Amino acid sequence: MKDEPMDKEDILKELSELHKLDYDYADGRILGSMCTQAHPFAKEVYCKFLDSNLGDPGLFKGTKYLEDEVVKSIGNLLSLDEAYGNIVTGGTEANIMAVRAARNHARKYKGIVDGEIIIPSSAHFSFKKAADMLNLKIVEANLDENYKMDVESVKELISDKTVAIVAIAGTTELGLIDPIEEISKIALENNIYFHVDAAFGGFSIPFLKEAGYDLPVFDFSLEGVCSITVDPHKMGLAPIPAGGIIFRKEEYLQVMAVDSPYLTVKTQSTIVGTRLGAASAATYAIINYFGKKGYSRMAQELMENTYYLKDGLQEIGYEIVCEPELNLLAFNHPNVETHEFAEKLEKFGWKVSIAKCPTEAIRVVLMNHIKRSHLKELLEDLKEIY
Ligand SMILES: *Cc1c(COP(=O)(O)O)cnc(C)c1O
Repeated sequence: MKDEPMDKEDILKELSELHKLDYDYADGRILGSMCTQAHPFAKEVYCKFLDSNLGDPGLFKGTKYLEDEVVKSIGNLLSLDEAYGNIVTGGTEANIMAVRAARNHARKYKGIVDGEIIIPSSAHFSFKKAADMLNLKIVEANLDENYKMDVESVKELISDKTVAIVAIAGTTELGLIDPIEEISKIALENNIYFHVDAAFGGFSIPFLKEAGYDLPVFDFSLEGVCSITVDPHKMGLAPIPAGGIIFRKEEYLQVMAVDSPYLTVKTQSTIVGTRLGAASAATYAIINYFGKKGYSRMAQELMENTYYLKDGLQEIGYEIVCEPELNLLAFNHPNVETHEFAEKLEKFGWKVSIAKCPTEAIRVVLMNHIKRSHLKELLEDLKEIY
């Protein structure tokens, strides 16, 4: 900051120079991101609600209504009639809230102090942050031969210190869905909190199932499921940051509540205090703008792009790690080491990401900004590299 005020024009010029250093989704070159460009309508709404602070909902009753409506809508999508929860900054914050609810619930009703959470080794790193912040020990379940959470391994790891079991609906690295129905039963039998991380899959699995795709049940229709994370800022096309945490019961919010003396509400269960209402408003706008049919069409298009890329890769001779379940494909060159292969792709201008679990591989998330024409160009380059 300088002593003297600067001209708007000068500031904007500097900003636009720096903005040029950012990659643009519209180029179709960003292959490894789970985020994408938000829909223009959602951005327009977002800007109108920049001052709405949901940390003090009594002052922003309209925006609070929008948050509640979004939570209800996402809950309905996940087979829950009465949903509780919040629109937060993303999957990370949503997962931390779920783990905090589970920990506090176990502390209050079972007296567990040195708690443990069972997560699959394919879990997102946000659970490491959650465990660290909440003083919990992570116990990692193995994956089975299909790279999904191994049910037997979960059974073996349950102890009298287990405060939560976590399974993933759409893993970050491979887009796979864990055997949630079986794990739900185990959680129920053992009276353990069960959280499903559908940050990635939440805005596609319900729509794909509706369209006839053969995907497993993962939602609140399974009695053992206590909470689900869903990110509107991934396939929901809401602007970042927008994550969703949906709870089956209000008591999971209540066990996290702390007194909030100077605000319009008496207690607060969210992690952050002052928090954006713009995400709730923009998500409300975009889910109603698309409707189930719009999202269904989009989800199917993304899957068609995924199969198109898969077929193209196999035709050339590349090896896919596993059959895609969602719009995410991991593959390798049969002879070139993954990092070296990634460098070659970078030289052609592709921004790739490398999966590590279970094996190193190039990972492409087929998000909305990757069009068929980009995939054609990618396959041309891959032919040359091969
Ligand atoms: C993206 C993702 C997260 C983290 O979400 P952020 O919005 O980046 O915080 C957590 N879990 C899964 C499965 C994800 O795909």
